[in-house]
Amino acid sequence: MILDTKTSAEQTIKDLEEVVKKLHSQPHLTIIMVGDNSASAVYVRNKIKTCESIGIKATLLHFAQSWTDELIHEIHRLNADETVHGILVQSPLPSDIPAQEVFDAIHPLKDVDGFSSANIARLYSGDDTGLVPGTPKGIMKILFEYFQMTNDEWRMTNDGEDKTSNLAGKHAVVIGKSTIVGKPLSLMLMHAGVTVTVCHSRTKDLAIHTKMADIIISAVGQKHLIASDMVRPGALVIDVGINVAEEEGRKLSGDCDTDNIATIADITPVPGGVGPMTIAMLLSNVLLAHELQWKN
Ligand code: NDP
Repeated sequence: MILDTKTSAEQTIKDLEEVVKKLHSQPHLTIIMVGDNSASAVYVRNKIKTCESIGIKATLLHFAQSWTDELIHEIHRLNADETVHGILVQSPLPSDIPAQEVFDAIHPLKDVDGFSSANIARLYSGDDTGLVPGTPKGIMKILFEYFQMTNDEWRMTNDGEDKTSNLAGKHAVVIGKSTIVGKPLSLMLMHAGVTVTVCHSRTKDLAIHTKMADIIISAVGQKHLIASDMVRPGALVIDVGINVAEEEGRKLSGDCDTDNIATIADITPVPGGVGPMTIAMLLSNVLLAHELQWKN
C-alpha cells in the first residue's frame, strides 16, 4: 500500500498553527541563502510560504555571493538579535565556503536545522529532544505513527523504561550515511530500540541486507535503486530520495519502484511522502527554538 503521509504532515502543520495562535510573541525564522541554485530557491520559497501560512514570521537574507567571514559575522548578528528565534543556512553552500564552520556559528538554541556540532553531539549522546535535523525527525514521526507510538512512549523507550513498543526490536536498513539524513536517522533509530544496518555506496550486495529488513529507509538519490524483489513482503519502505527527470518536465521520483513495491509492502510516495513531513518538522523546530529561548 502507498501510505498517505501527506495528510499526516498537513495535520501536523495545522496542530502547530494552533500552538502559534497561543504564543505571546511571534516566532521568527531567518533563512540565509548564498548563490542562485534554482532547486534551493524553490525549497526556500516553500519554507517561507509554509511558515507564513501558520503565523511564523520568515525573513530571507539572500547573498548573490558571500565570504565565510561575512557569513559568520551575519550569523553572529542574528544570534544576538532577540527577535530572531531560528536561523537556517540553506544547503548546499558554494563549495569554497566551509559548511560545518558556518553551521557551528549558529547559536545551538537557534539552530533549527540541527546541523551545528553542539546539537549533533547532543543527539550522539542519546538526547533526541533538542533541535535535530528535520528529515530524520520527520521519518521518526512517520514511524511512530505507523507503529502507533506516541512521542512520550518513544521517550520512555529512549530512557530505557519501556522496551515494549512496536518499533523497538525491529530491524531497519538505512541506505545512505550522509550527515543530514542517514547518520542522524541511524542514531535516532538506535535510541528507539531499533536494530540498525547502514548501507552505502561501498556496500557489496545491497539486496542481501534489504531482504532481511522490517523497515527499509532509502536516502540515496538514485532512481529505481530499490526494486520489489529486494523487499521482504510485509515490510515498511520509507523513500527519502528525490530524483528529477528533466526530460519528463522535471517529474519527481524517489529511489524505489513504488508501484511494484506497494503490491507486497507499505511504502511512502515521492513526491508527497517524506518531503512534506520534513517541512512540518522544520516548523516544529522553529517553535521548539522559540520555546527554548523563552526558557533561557
Ligand atoms: P548524499 O549525496 O549526501 O548521500 C547519499 C548517500 O547515498 C551516501 O551515503 C552514498 O554513499 C549513498 N549511496 C550512493 N550510491 C549508493 C548505492 N548505489 N547504494 C547504496 N548507497 C549509495 O545525499 P543526502 O543524504 O543529502 O540525500 C539523499 C537523497 O535524499 C537525495 O535524493 C536528496 O535529494 C533526498 N533528500 C530528501 C529530503 C526530503 O525532504 N524528502 C531531504 C534531504 C534529502 P557514500 O557515503 O559511500 O558515498
